[in-house]
Amino acid sequence: MSQGLVTAAYIVAAILFILSLAGLAKQESAKNGNYFGIAGMVIALIATIGSDHASGLAWVIIAMIIGAAAGIYKAHKVEMTEMPELIALLHSFVGMAAVLVGYNSYLNAHTVAADMHTIHLVEVFIGVFIGAITFTGSLVAFGKLNGKISSKPLALPFKHGLNLAAIVVSALLLTWFMKVDGSLFPLILMTLIALAFGWHLVAAIGGADMPVVVSMLNSYSGWAAAAAGFMLENDLLIVTGALVGSSGAILSYIMCQAMNRSFISVIAGGFGSGSSSSSSEEEAGEHREIQPADVADMLKNAKSVIITPGYGMAVAHAQNAVAEITSMLRREGINVRFGIHPVAGRLPGHMNVLLAEAKVPYDIVLEMDEINDDFAETDVVLVIGANDTVNPAAATDPTSPIAGMPVLHVWEAQNVIVFKRSMSSGYAGVQNPLFFNENSYMCFGDAKETVEKIQKAL
Ligand code: NDP
Repeated sequence: MSQGLVTAAYIVAAILFILSLAGLAKQESAKNGNYFGIAGMVIALIATIGSDHASGLAWVIIAMIIGAAAGIYKAHKVEMTEMPELIALLHSFVGMAAVLVGYNSYLNAHTVAADMHTIHLVEVFIGVFIGAITFTGSLVAFGKLNGKISSKPLALPFKHGLNLAAIVVSALLLTWFMKVDGSLFPLILMTLIALAFGWHLVAAIGGADMPVVVSMLNSYSGWAAAAAGFMLENDLLIVTGALVGSSGAILSYIMCQAMNRSFISVIAGGFGSGSSSSSSEEEAGEHREIQPADVADMLKNAKSVIITPGYGMAVAHAQNAVAEITSMLRREGINVRFGIHPVAGRLPGHMNVLLAEAKVPYDIVLEMDEINDDFAETDVVLVIGANDTVNPAAATDPTSPIAGMPVLHVWEAQNVIVFKRSMSSGYAGVQNPLFFNENSYMCFGDAKETVEKIQKAL
């Protein structure tokens, strides 16, 4: 394929990636956004494989078949609730790829033109640094999201000093690396430091801040890909990496604003988050139980109902049953709406995707800011598998690990029914005083089974 054709294909692919990002920004256009992304990636792959730069086509095809088979198998098998951990794992692959490309470029440094030698060494060093941080950081995020690593923040003594030391020592190693004209030793030493740094950076962040970490690692993986693009002299990889890197950074910033967190403090490994006294999982009072048939009676007599779903609705696959009772109640003239917290579930937009799949009309699905003032005038709130996102401690207890995080003000409603299986805490590991309020009732059991019982009783 001629270089002109490859360049043209790269421009088309880059435009498709931009259209993809634009499409993904809205629920209604997200599907088209995905199609643009797929088309862009197919064009990018064909142009890259067909370009004069590519060699060893047989190896590339074998690798693609293995990768595609693993990807298709995993995509079919993965549960919606496991998506964030899969994304974290995929980010770790990008990080690892950047490290491997970096070492490969280092070993082939003699093929680079003499006037590009210095800049090439800097590219290698920075690419490996970002890639190694992304690799171990994403692995820790994967462990925290699938529960293999505790979601509580790791608090090593002098943790911020350790992070700072890792950056300073890596900068000194870069100077050494350049001085000795690219000796392998400082590169290996920096790689080990960056691996430990990435691991510590994410381990130090608590469960409630994980949404920001996931989008932040998304951003890091983009910059790692861009760095690989420089090393491979592939313009499209540079552009795509920069698109992912900057959109991930914007998403992290939006998530930080939604959770009232400082962007700098989270990317610096929870800087300023201090240790907390109230992350206890102990129960703080007496709770009242209610049966599904009584919930159905309460709903029949209500004029307005708000449903606030959370991670438990996703695990229980309760969204279709929830959609079913929603349309039953709406047919009776009851005003039913949904209140969605920006970090409910385990990935941005998680609840919106589930409700859209279950064909809940978009116009009754409202964001937290749109609905928070309406709880006080609401007869019944159904908290379906949500916990941290409806925890009043965020607003009332300054020592809580989730202090300052905006939450849905469900407790202001006349009656609050909480659907969960036990009195255990949410992802952030904090007990929820909502469960012990006088207007709160616990409806224990699997969310899907409970909602189906209510559906029958209705
Ligand atoms: P939480 O994770 O705080 O709580 C979920 C609740 O669901 C639990 O208390 C659990 O209680 C209950 N539950 C689990 N399984 C079932 C079931 N089968 N039936 C009924 N209930 C069930 O959920 P939220 O959505 O309120 O909060 C999300 C949390 O996840 C926040 O801390 C957020 O920061 C974090 N997070 C969010 C991400 C995002 O991008 N959205 C990414 C990473 C983390 P029990 O075990 O008693 O049933």
